[in-house]
Amino acid sequence: MRKKIVAGNWKMNLDYNEGLALFSEVVNMVKDEATGTQEVVVCSPFIHLHSLVQLAKGSAKVSVGAQNAHQAESGAYTGEISAKQVKSVGAAYVILGHSERRQYFGEDNALLAKKTDVVLANDLKPIFCIGETLQEREANVHFDIIKSQLLEGVGHLDAAAFSKLVIAYEPVWAIGTGVTASSDQAQEIHAFIRKEIAAKYDQSVADATTILYGGSCNPKNAAELFACADIDGGLIGGASLKSRDFTDIVKAFN
Ligand code: PGA
Repeated sequence: MRKKIVAGNWKMNLDYNEGLALFSEVVNMVKDEATGTQEVVVCSPFIHLHSLVQLAKGSAKVSVGAQNAHQAESGAYTGEISAKQVKSVGAAYVILGHSERRQYFGEDNALLAKKTDVVLANDLKPIFCIGETLQEREANVHFDIIKSQLLEGVGHLDAAAFSKLVIAYEPVWAIGTGVTASSDQAQEIHAFIRKEIAAKYDQSVADATTILYGGSCNPKNAAELFACADIDGGLIGGASLKSRDFTDIVKAFN
């Protein structure tokens, strides 16, 4: 009913040739794998996007995404990249709201709401990230934080627009730390997010929304996480930089 997706987030890693070599391996390796994963998305730095889209052409399963886009359509924003430019090279997705963008680049819910609108207006699909810090979890405000990130970031969309989103739950304390949320912890939050989507829209929108887990997901823990009722795949950072690890995560779906 909802799509099972494994997405890689290369972050600011790999030079141009390294990125093409890794991506070619991934395309080859996932081609013949029997897996429940229906779509594999690689979110690369901007410099790779055009070439990866060309390399992905032979693959029914692999798509390409960016990791950010500016909130304006175009203009005098030196160094920035617009959603329209991302779309023009044939990418399909854009990660928005990643905790590193929130933390290091001051992106707040109001800005992310604008970015979401521009990304959707350019016929790209946002992978919209939400998740609490360790302090927020310890202070027991994580449900409130996740709810406000969801509603303030994308709750202004109508149901038709919302249904184009992929949501990613990424607890900040699990990103790049080697500490993974337990499958119970992740499932609890995914079920909560789905409940909030149902409350805001309706159950059919909630049931159709792909919700990914991200945060130190690796070939060892992926199968257990992906077996949870409300976990529809993963957003993979570190382990997406190794073709074998990434492909093993893709294969972890039954
Ligand atoms: P990680 O990163 O898998 O390296 O923890 C996940 C992410 O930041 O999307």
